[in-house]
Amino acid sequence: MRALFLGFDGGSTRAQEPFAQLALALHLKGHEIVWLAEAGSAAALLAQKLELPNHTVPRIRVVGARRTLAISERISDQGSELVLYQGDRTEPIALFSALPYPQVSLVEFYRAEKGQAVRQKSVGGFLARTVHRVAFSDPQQEERSLESIRFRARGGRRVVFVDRDGTLNAEVGPIRVPGDLEILPGVGEGLRALDKGDYQIVVITNQAAVGRGDLTLAQLDCIHGRLRELLRREGIEISAIYSCPHTPQAECDCRKPEPGLILQAAGDLGIRMEESWVIGDSMRDIGAGQSIGIPSILVKTGWGGADPRAAELEGKFTPAQKARDFTAASEWILRHESRPRVRRGT
Ligand SMILES: [Mg+2]
Ligand SMILES: [Zn+2]
Repeated sequence: MRALFLGFDGGSTRAQEPFAQLALALHLKGHEIVWLAEAGSAAALLAQKLELPNHTVPRIRVVGARRTLAISERISDQGSELVLYQGDRTEPIALFSALPYPQVSLVEFYRAEKGQAVRQKSVGGFLARTVHRVAFSDPQQEERSLESIRFRARGGRRVVFVDRDGTLNAEVGPIRVPGDLEILPGVGEGLRALDKGDYQIVVITNQAAVGRGDLTLAQLDCIHGRLRELLRREGIEISAIYSCPHTPQAECDCRKPEPGLILQAAGDLGIRMEESWVIGDSMRDIGAGQSIGIPSILVKTGWGGADPRAAELEGKFTPAQKARDFTAASEWILRHESRPRVRRGT
């Protein structure tokens, strides 16, 4: 997510702190953050303290035509998909609403201590494109809500749900550190083709190592931060990552072949399920899609369908297609824009 945080001088460092903490948490999860602040302001100092990528902007006091243009250009340069604004001043709302490019969502932060809403959504005749309330609670939840805003702003709401290990990166046993991630050949090319074809990418992954106590959620965040980074280098911004942290013994409803992760994502993001697909290297991935009527493609990389539960699941589920690798799977999807009907698994 290219998120642009705007820390205009909405008050003291203390008032800005929760906002900066959220920016920092997203930064550590691998999201691209640009923190704009007025030179010398509390916001600029705070960004330095937290070591957020810091850019300063000219002071905004009066939003005149020339000043508006200068700031808009600065923001456009950053290629942001999301603008988060902290503060209760109305000028910036007018400013960002006037930006010429459609990806911008305006997110207003409400002063936590006062708990009061920003009164005006329409300022000086400009209407904010998206006004979203963000509470300062749990970064996990905020990430979800920001991802959902961006997902909707991007337009196309169809998704390719992609497994992680053995599909995007080499299957080398449980990944413990970010350095273990190695993107498979053909993945960048395939993802770019899907992106061009108006599909968004949502990663769905079983991570029982967390439930077993071998991996903390913070470590998993670091690994996914690295995954986002590696794929960003390939020109791809993943829309969201959903992981099941449970062991098989927990009998949760999100560990694939259960469809829980897909259903969770669908609920959070507003996905058009009838136009979506699954790509994975194990029969568990195929089952997760097919059990809710989503055609699923098995890639020959990683387990290549010979995963520990394959024999048991093969009786119930059949991949819509088997593909040599990720590129071949993407090509097949793009050739079958109108999806085949899928028999739901039992
Ligand atoms: Mg896999
Ligand atoms: Zn689970």
